[in-house]
Amino acid sequence: MTCYQEITCPTCGSGNNIMKSGRSALGIQRYRCRNPGGGTKTFMPSYRYKALEPSVKTQAVDMAINGSGIRDTARVLKISKNTVMHLKTSSG
Ligand SMILES: [Zn+2]
Repeated sequence: MTCYQEITCPTCGSGNNIMKSGRSALGIQRYRCRNPGGGTKTFMPSYRYKALEPSVKTQAVDMAINGSGIRDTARVLKISKNTVMHLKTSSG
């Protein structure tokens, strides 16, 4: 049995019927729920900042250093504002 990260569907909350569905532009694995009512929407696991892709983290810190706003950084890197804020406060 392979050990892998537990993924749960943000729509129905179940983790029993999740399948992989390609990757995002940033290389983050996307998933899709196959349960009835889960629809065909893909979703990405909500990474905590520690599990953030290293390249994204670097870019976020760079943008913060260069004076980009939290909202801009979050939008460009497609990460949450909370994550940006955390990186910003922990980078100095
Ligand atoms: Zn679901």
